Amino acid sequence: MEENILPGLLRIREYVSSGITRPVAFRLQQLAQLRRSILANKDSLFDALYTDLKKNREEAWITEIGFVLSAIRTMEKHLATWVKPERVKTNLLNFPSSSYIVREPLGVVLIIAPWNYPLQLLFTPFIGAIAAGNGVVLKPSEYAPATAAIMKKIVRECMPENYVAYIEGDGAALLPGLIKSFRFDKIFYTGSTHVGKLIYAMAAGQLIPVVLELGGKSPCIVEEDAHLEVAAKRIVLAKFSNAGQMCVAPDYLLVQENKKEELLSYLKKYADKFFGAQGPDNYNYGKIINGKNFDRLCSFLQEATIVYGGKIDKEKCYIQPTLVENVSLQSKLMQEEIFGPILPILTFKEKEEAVAILQENPQPLAFYVFTSKKENEKYWIKRISFGGGCINNAAWHLTNDALPFGGIGNSGTGQYHGRSSFDTFSHQKAIMKTPTWFDPAIKYPPYKGKLKWFKKIF
Ligand code: NAD
Repeated sequence: MEENILPGLLRIREYVSSGITRPVAFRLQQLAQLRRSILANKDSLFDALYTDLKKNREEAWITEIGFVLSAIRTMEKHLATWVKPERVKTNLLNFPSSSYIVREPLGVVLIIAPWNYPLQLLFTPFIGAIAAGNGVVLKPSEYAPATAAIMKKIVRECMPENYVAYIEGDGAALLPGLIKSFRFDKIFYTGSTHVGKLIYAMAAGQLIPVVLELGGKSPCIVEEDAHLEVAAKRIVLAKFSNAGQMCVAPDYLLVQENKKEELLSYLKKYADKFFGAQGPDNYNYGKIINGKNFDRLCSFLQEATIVYGGKIDKEKCYIQPTLVENVSLQSKLMQEEIFGPILPILTFKEKEEAVAILQENPQPLAFYVFTSKKENEKYWIKRISFGGGCINNAAWHLTNDALPFGGIGNSGTGQYHGRSSFDTFSHQKAIMKTPTWFDPAIKYPPYKGKLKWFKKIF
């Protein structure tokens, strides 16, 4: 397969090397064209996102179409400033030099996306890559084919193939050969930790830098002083949107023992209100992506006591929002990322008890704390290593593009959104400029006897 793709990639390399993508005006023009093409195809996108994931239009706007348009707007607003050479200080040792940083395109970058937010997770990094002046190869997930087809149409309508390639198919069959035969200047991968490790290893062979946006088990702590009703509403929304198939969805809850029953009653109330009624036909509630994931999630249901939900319909890929308790830390439910609408509820009395449970799955992508006390907020933020998170909220941090988004360790490496998207796809070329009118002899050999001066200056 890669033999057919390779000549196209070499043409992209040529196009970028020609310098055509460097002017800000070119990049802004591409962003504007992309926006126009998305808007022209927005109804088809709504339909495709419904077909692939049963996303309702409102959710599709907030998490996909509107999200991407907003990322374009941020870039358009700031790009001219961000591309300007940045003056930085110069130390005394180098007096009277001046220093600055030039942000340059990396070259040709590969962006690999998963299926759960197929548009957002392919196009948000794409916007950063274009803004930074790169040529791009886009690889959508094969598991959201309706959206992948519309995204291809959008890209082909506004950008030539010698600038942006759109490649489709099974990543396992397509990508290893491609990464071996073409040296990308960066690989931006979003997906599972397992495949992330494979991509990292493939990239290492050619010293290709990577961004890995991975998954993991994102915990949610509810302290006894939390506003329980508001906490329940926000947890239910973040956990069951897109039928739980969200990388930053709360994976499991740790609630202070004396508040468990009260929290549970609110969780049930809002799960019912937001997503429960009408079963699979609920307008607000999505479907599981495919039979394989449906079976995987159903196997989790055998491992705990269901306290709410649990209804399934294989034909419709429906699993009701489900709350479970009596969960063993050794079960698959607590060892693997759930990535579906099942929420285990565990309890703790003392903070260190909760910490011990959190350390079973260290360095999650997201972490949430519900509390009304500043000291609790400070404690948890300091105590736990995680990618990003919220206090008294869940998942919404990723919608603020002033915040860099990314994981740490097990949940990934590198960040994007807003300015970080531009930086991630740029090379920071560091320049020092030294005038010739001042050239002290102390800098040059012979050095004998100069150490006391060097110690003063450096
Ligand atoms: P996945 O890893 O199975 O697939 C992602 C992409 O990798 C697809 O395009 C696929 O074709 C490709 N791929 C699959 N196997 C490959 C291989 N062997 N070699 C090369 N490429 C391969 O992930 P998924 O099931 O589509 O997505 C779910 C996972 O993604 C979850 O773990 C979730 O947490 C994570 N995720 C993370 C973020 C984030 O921003 N950190 C966002 C969404 C999803």
